Amino acid sequence: MVTTPARDDFDITVDVLVIGAGACGFTAALAAKAAGADVAVVEKLDRLAGNTMLSSGSIPAAGTRLQAAAGIADDPARFAADLRRVAGPHDADHLVDRLAAVSAEMVHFLIDEAAVDLTLVTAYRHVGHTVHRLHAPPSRKGADLMRDLERAVAARDIPVAFGNPATRLIVIDGAVVGAETRAATGETARIGAAATVLACNGFGHSPALRARFCPELAALSHFGAVGSEGEAVIWGEALGARLGNMGSFQAHAAIAQPHGALVTWTVIEKGGVIVDDGGRRFADETLGYSAFAERVAAHGRPTVAIYDKQVRDVTAAGQPEFGELVEHGGAREFHDVDALAAFVGCDPAVLAETLAAAAAAGTGAATDPLGRTAWGLGPLTSPYVATRIAPALFHTQGGPVVDADARVLRADGTPIPGLYAGGGAACGVSGRRGSTGYVSGNGLLAAVGLGYVAGRAAAGRAAAHRAAHPDDSFHSDLQPERLRS
Ligand SMILES: Cc1cc2nc3c(=O)[nH]c(=O)nc-3n(C[C@H](O)[C@H](O)[C@H](O)COP(=O)(O)OP(=O)(O)OC[C@H]3O[C@@H](n4cnc5c(N)ncnc54)[C@H](O)[C@@H]3O)c2cc1C
Repeated sequence: MVTTPARDDFDITVDVLVIGAGACGFTAALAAKAAGADVAVVEKLDRLAGNTMLSSGSIPAAGTRLQAAAGIADDPARFAADLRRVAGPHDADHLVDRLAAVSAEMVHFLIDEAAVDLTLVTAYRHVGHTVHRLHAPPSRKGADLMRDLERAVAARDIPVAFGNPATRLIVIDGAVVGAETRAATGETARIGAAATVLACNGFGHSPALRARFCPELAALSHFGAVGSEGEAVIWGEALGARLGNMGSFQAHAAIAQPHGALVTWTVIEKGGVIVDDGGRRFADETLGYSAFAERVAAHGRPTVAIYDKQVRDVTAAGQPEFGELVEHGGAREFHDVDALAAFVGCDPAVLAETLAAAAAAGTGAATDPLGRTAWGLGPLTSPYVATRIAPALFHTQGGPVVDADARVLRADGTPIPGLYAGGGAACGVSGRRGSTGYVSGNGLLAAVGLGYVAGRAAAGRAAAHRAAHPDDSFHSDLQPERLRS
């Protein structure tokens, strides 16, 4: 049954209210609008500044026409198998097939409906994918993905109210019927909606929720966006939502120090190694940037990424953001091991031994004692390049469990009427605990994939509401001007 609150209960009403202006929120808004709903987006911050803006905008999808054009054979079953192999058992296995199945459609939707500029990444595959399936803006900047999405949202007259955080959900008879917002001026608004989409990301920026659900993150700083304060978890829990994969997160082992910029894992995949301040490797780097971050945290010593000029230059040519780090002196060149050891702060003999052992493993002359088998372009050669690095948390992967229509589920498996979630706000598909279950692109897969699914399902609920209650529809008095901040 669709709940019918009185229109007078609200300052504004819409069919679909989206909370959060990130990839999930904007995709949900576009999908809902395309399905015929009136939509509004409220955003906590005064500008686009969510995690998607910080990301490299890489979205995995299987069976796209971009892959076909590049001669890459891929399908949802293969993608789902890759996701399961890395993540292991977890609380949202039902979403693995759903997201893999919808992935190509969602990428085509972004390109065709929203004119988002996406290209297939063939320069690197990244962690967990057995074929090339990351689709990213040519610049590899999530900010460009967001700008394209924002343009599409504006072109459809979807109001976006910046600086208007949702402060609580409005619930009548167990159904979510909108949310209350509070602007910096103190002005509050009660927004009624037939369907509300939580697209407000995870809890990476909430020390209390991190301590409660991911105590192992204590040693990691948060590299993600400040808006990720865990409202979906707090509100969902209060409504009896089932929370899943709460100990799961994505981290990254290589934040350049002191630059604070991301060192793309491509330099590792192309043959780079990571040593501690004693000049020794301590884990298989091909575990991936997220899993390796946990190893660094457990190891507890400063780390340095070592690669060479060839790796640096090839990588910088294809990834402008890394090129910027190089330009700012974040990838120092050393012509011999002694100078490199001085930078690392270790005994040159130990570092020489480490590099020689890695080179032997890279040529197949010896087996790597840490188990690494992939060495990219082969053994590193002088001139060497080094970057001091530290691990950081990117985003959390736990949250309210949603069904295949992105409806938030209660503990008993029934949906909470009117409430949808996606992206970092929902339970992800990256395993139950820690950072090892994260396949590259899982963040935006959940953001764009569940946003797409949520938007369509939310529009369907609004249409059902309208059909059942033609005189009391939420959609009829949308006031876009009121929502524009
Ligand atoms: C450096 C970095 C690189 C990354 N690279 C990739 C990548 O290449 N591929 C990938 O898949 N993932 C990547 N990730 C992860 C990815 O960015 C996130 O998983 C994804 O962007 C989440 O999208 P979202 O829409 O759920 O959240 P966001 O993009 O964070 O959007 C959520 C929005 O909700 C707003 N909000 C929060 N609370 C409220 C509230 N109460 N009311 C209103 N608004 C609210 C926030 O301010 C924010 O703008 C990366 C992360 C980082 C930090």
